[in-house]
Amino acid sequence: MTLNTKNYDYLIVGAGPYGSIFAHEAAKRGKRSLIIERRVHVGGNMYTHKEHGINVHDFGAHIFHTDNKEVWDYVQQFTEFNGYINQVVANYKGELYNLPFNMNTFYQMWGVKTPEEAAAKIEEQKNAAGLAGAPKNLEEQAISLIGTDIYTKLIKGYTEKQWGRPATELPSFIIRRLPVRYTFDNNYFNHRYQGVPVDGYTAIFDKMLDSELIDVQVNTDFFAHKDDYLAEFPRIVYTGMIDAFFDYSEGELEYRSVRFESEVFDTDNKQGNAVINYTERDVPYTRVMEWRHFDGHADAGKTILAKEYPQDWDRTKEAYYPVNDEKNSTIFKKYRKLADAQDKVLFGGRLGNYQYYDMDQVFNAALKDVEKEFDD
Ligand code: UDP
Repeated sequence: MTLNTKNYDYLIVGAGPYGSIFAHEAAKRGKRSLIIERRVHVGGNMYTHKEHGINVHDFGAHIFHTDNKEVWDYVQQFTEFNGYINQVVANYKGELYNLPFNMNTFYQMWGVKTPEEAAAKIEEQKNAAGLAGAPKNLEEQAISLIGTDIYTKLIKGYTEKQWGRPATELPSFIIRRLPVRYTFDNNYFNHRYQGVPVDGYTAIFDKMLDSELIDVQVNTDFFAHKDDYLAEFPRIVYTGMIDAFFDYSEGELEYRSVRFESEVFDTDNKQGNAVINYTERDVPYTRVMEWRHFDGHADAGKTILAKEYPQDWDRTKEAYYPVNDEKNSTIFKKYRKLADAQDKVLFGGRLGNYQYYDMDQVFNAALKDVEKEFDD
């Protein structure tokens, strides 16, 4: 079987951000890459398509945010960003709250008007919960940061449906992704740079991969010819699931999946915000996105909303989130060891590294790995 038809320097498995940046940077250095992608499109979960003039994020809301100026400057060369600032509203049984947890939330929850009053309320609830010492799980972490009322109304239900397990069995770092601030500031992120590409994310990838030295084959499964690929290519960049690469020899890692239900409405504005979270346990979806509010693009009189439903993952579904609890971290460490022993293969991206990376972290990791690859 001849798979390395053009004497490629690299086989890149997966056309998401890690693989695409790698191919782009390799091409800049005169190296030829073949990217194979199991799905029918490039961009991984950043993929967007246009419908009724609206950039629809097929795999969930993607907002680029970073403190890393190098990454921000890097991504700008492929697109223009619009300055969107994510401001999420939470709906708990019909009550509306601003997120992330800030003075607006505290006012809506308790009527407190100053940072001092808010801090006192939180301290009181934390003490009543009897928490002492370092938080042992997400529930303890959440209560010690923002108290039991907010935990009960805005975190517990959302978290347990999102992850499919009790908040007491989840690592505390997951809730620390969200800022807690004693100012009236609804910006969901603390980062200095933030936005959504005016032309959608797919345009970034089309530009990144536009090179004579890069070929992309979609609809192509690495595992159909794994041994041949490994034999024929001098170097492989693998961005799929790390446990799958090793044929699950150290056990199966767990992932969390989501699915989307999309609906078109004949109006310019259906829910009044880009993202509304539904934080009670009994609503089966976690959030509803109205895509036109991310970048202001839409045909007049049309809007598209998507409900996000968390679901258990199995091998027939897309793996969205690694579950970085203790059990899975122990298994992952074994795979990491096997990966380190593979001279020919570089593992990257959210699935290759089994990390809950944001886009900017993937960009940063890819750029660092490129440096190592080419500047040694
Ligand atoms: N979270 C929550 N309530 C919310 C939003 C988030 O409890 O209304 C928790 C939940 O555990 C979630 C975590 O915060 O998994 C991180 O949220 P983020 O919005 O960063 O998740 P992502 O956008 O990556 O799915």
